[in-house]
Amino acid sequence: MPSSYTGRFAPSPTGPLHAGSLVAALASWLDARAHQGRWLVRIEDVDTPRCVPGGDQLILQQLMNCGLTPDESPVWQSQRTPLYQAALDDLTARGLAYPCACTRSQIQAELERQGHAHNRNGELIYPGTCRNGLRGQPARAWRFLTQVIPTTAHPEPVEGRTESTVHWDDLHLGPQSQDVEKAVGDFVLQRADGLFAYQLAVVVDDAAQGISHIVRGQDLADNTARQILLQRALGLTSPQYLHTPLVLGENGEKLSKQNGAQALDTRDPLHALNAAAPVLGLRVHATSLSDWLVQATAQWAKLRTPHGAGL
Ligand code: GLU
Repeated sequence: MPSSYTGRFAPSPTGPLHAGSLVAALASWLDARAHQGRWLVRIEDVDTPRCVPGGDQLILQQLMNCGLTPDESPVWQSQRTPLYQAALDDLTARGLAYPCACTRSQIQAELERQGHAHNRNGELIYPGTCRNGLRGQPARAWRFLTQVIPTTAHPEPVEGRTESTVHWDDLHLGPQSQDVEKAVGDFVLQRADGLFAYQLAVVVDDAAQGISHIVRGQDLADNTARQILLQRALGLTSPQYLHTPLVLGENGEKLSKQNGAQALDTRDPLHALNAAAPVLGLRVHATSLSDWLVQATAQWAKLRTPHGAGL
């Protein structure tokens, strides 16, 4: 019977892969292989100002060097704008998205006026100013109205939960929840510069590509509740989520392109993969790339069984 599993790796081409992004790529590939599923690569170049020329080809080459080859041709988000527009139009038509005229400083001023803490991870929690209209100002961005969307899987809000609280079971982190309205507020779907936001693009594409399992770095876990709310609003099935441990830099912070993580040298793929493996609880001894990947897949499959030790 063919597997209904479809996984993906969705890098933003803001630079080459580094040690941390290889862990996420490897974990998503291993999980797909362990489930006899398909594995896709999607280049998330929707935030064009942050992309570097040639970054996409570099990443694809690095993945190939490590033997992580997608089962279909990769897709580029920059070529999929009409899909995001259609989703935004659908949400708007149903009163679940609205235009917003607020500048960052206006949001900051409003939060101060309300006596709220300014930000969370540097992001301002939107106070809902434009929920009831633009007050004669021009629209800048489009926001999602955070509220519960009843579905057959989640028919009624449970007493004691606020309406925008999302609960999900992460296959690595365990039970998770977030009240999106409180933690983030009505979040942006289309930015003031006209670009579609990551949250909308990722949800539309994961559904369009039939992604059943999202395996990605733990730094992205905080986005999951927003994405589940959007899936419910758009009538889409939510995939399963597994957030992998992060590679930490010398300063103890998450290794990222932003804090100067070095580009991964994949000319020696076994060296790169051997460095990634322990983060995922794998210990592989192999002298060829194909043996390495076979062993790693078998180990991963054991970790992911109901009685496995987990990552
Ligand atoms: N494009 C995102 C990033 O590189 C990842 C998106 C995802 O896996 O959901 O950070």
